[in-house]
Amino acid sequence: MGKATGFMEYERELPSDRPPTERIADWREFHLPFAEEKLRTQGARCMDCGTPFCHTGKLLNGMVSGCPINNLIPEWNDLVYRGLWHEALERLLKTNNFPEFTGRVCPAPCEGSCTLGINEPPVTIKNIEAAIIERGFSEGWVKPDPPQNRTGKKVAVVGSGPAGLACAAQLNRAGHWVTVFERADRIGGLLTYGIPNMKLEKHIVQRRVDLMTAEGVKFVTNTEVGIDYPADKLVSEFDAVVLCGGATKPRDLPIEGRELKGIHFAMEFLHANTKDVLDGQAATPSLWESRVGGRKYISAKNKDVVIIGGGDTGTDCVATSIRHGCKSLAQFEILNRPPDERQPGNPWPEWPNIFRVDYGQEEAAAVFGHDPRHYAIMTKKFVGDENGHVKELHTVQIEWVTGDNGGRPTPQEIPGTEKVWPAQLVLLSMGFLGPEDTLPDQLGLERDERSNARAEYGQFATSIEGVFTAGDMRRGQSLVVWAINEGRGAACEVDRYLMGKTDLP
Ligand SMILES: Cc1cc2nc3c(=O)[nH]c(=O)nc-3n(C[C@H](O)[C@H](O)[C@H](O)COP(=O)(O)OP(=O)(O)OC[C@H]3O[C@@H](n4cnc5c(N)ncnc54)[C@H](O)[C@@H]3O)c2cc1C
Ligand code: SF4
Repeated sequence: MGKATGFMEYERELPSDRPPTERIADWREFHLPFAEEKLRTQGARCMDCGTPFCHTGKLLNGMVSGCPINNLIPEWNDLVYRGLWHEALERLLKTNNFPEFTGRVCPAPCEGSCTLGINEPPVTIKNIEAAIIERGFSEGWVKPDPPQNRTGKKVAVVGSGPAGLACAAQLNRAGHWVTVFERADRIGGLLTYGIPNMKLEKHIVQRRVDLMTAEGVKFVTNTEVGIDYPADKLVSEFDAVVLCGGATKPRDLPIEGRELKGIHFAMEFLHANTKDVLDGQAATPSLWESRVGGRKYISAKNKDVVIIGGGDTGTDCVATSIRHGCKSLAQFEILNRPPDERQPGNPWPEWPNIFRVDYGQEEAAAVFGHDPRHYAIMTKKFVGDENGHVKELHTVQIEWVTGDNGGRPTPQEIPGTEKVWPAQLVLLSMGFLGPEDTLPDQLGLERDERSNARAEYGQFATSIEGVFTAGDMRRGQSLVVWAINEGRGAACEVDRYLMGKTDLP
């Protein structure tokens, strides 16, 4: 282990982020790097405990506990403490194809189950992970590593999010020729067009795509399988097909006034914004806005914005609206505010279900003087102006009441708590309902009860011979780290299907 007494001597410390009032003027990443000495000290806090729950990746009480890709965390913490960065990188790349993504955007379930976290703040695992891979890139240790031999087998991967990319990287490593089809104009799935630039700059995604291209993976953009490329043609032309199309069907709010202009799904807003930022190559919103023409994004400038949905996607809408220069901001969550500390029913090593302040809320507080979130609030209707554009929302506070027979709590309106909110832009961010239908319908794919593509976890084979599925398309909207887990797992099963055995990790 690192330093035997490190966990008693050193406090948890993270690098400070760029100040909110500075970072809202651009689209650049808000995390700052950390000095090497500080990273080594943080690595020394790892206790190398007998049973390191941080890398177990198990579901406890419906929530993930530990790292879903089983990163060898205590090993690389120790190596970082000893200054052995190259060795730490080798350990990290054994389990994770893309630490530069997880090290930036993962919610770090590993930290929620760190043993030190029982009575002290946990080890800064995610920040150390990001530092190891960035050190690897800056030292030139991360290089294209094409396979020595090719099998002659051809595999098509549909969708270029983290599941598709991880699957393609692993299958290419096994020597198969891999082609990734993507309907968008850029590779990356939600890494590119979901998670905003300030959380994950897109040159980081492109850097990985360039590496994979140099290793022999072929990328085809602007091609929707099922529309531009018939699905049955794909199945007959390739030896195996892996569907990694994500779960992009948004949950709607079918209440009075939903048809009004100015009410959008969060992904319409976020996708168009990132595309405009990237197309314009602009560094700051002011530069970006001064461009003539081509402004196809949905602007929040000078508007009262209401975001319905309190999750990560909602937070990304908060931060994006602030960068546009919105007039006011409110974020609604139908559930109660989480507690500040773990409750008895949510013990370690479960994921701590506690109140957190994310980057978007921090920025909103800096600009407007308060956290934008409102809890236990339900939207009753939207009201429009004479031009058919939304002008206000009507809400009511609710309480969650458990029935006499102890069933699931249901929302009950609290009389007298009705409220009217001005809003010229409403963003619906209430989660996703599974994959879109075009491709599964065209293939005649079996679906599960939640409409995801049906395939057993660990086997990833669909109801169609030679067709596999992984990531959000199989498990429903989830996390980047689970997408990497599934992409790797599906690659193993495809390799076994093609070769009769597999040596892939
Ligand atoms: C706004 C937002 C923010 C998020 N933030 C985080 C975060 O901070 N941390 C985190 O861990 N997770 C986050 N997530 C979740 C995470 O991004 C997803 O779980 C993950 O990207 C799923 O990966 P995937 O490869 O399965 O699918 P996706 O990333 O959705 O990629 C699927 C790709 O398939 C393409 N596609 C679909 N159908 C076809 C077709 N027929 N032909 C060709 N291409 C097709 C799509 O265009 C898309 O590019 C966020 C999600 C959203 C929506
Ligand atoms: S991928 Fe996520 S869960 Fe795994 S070590 Fe990194 S931050 Fe932790």
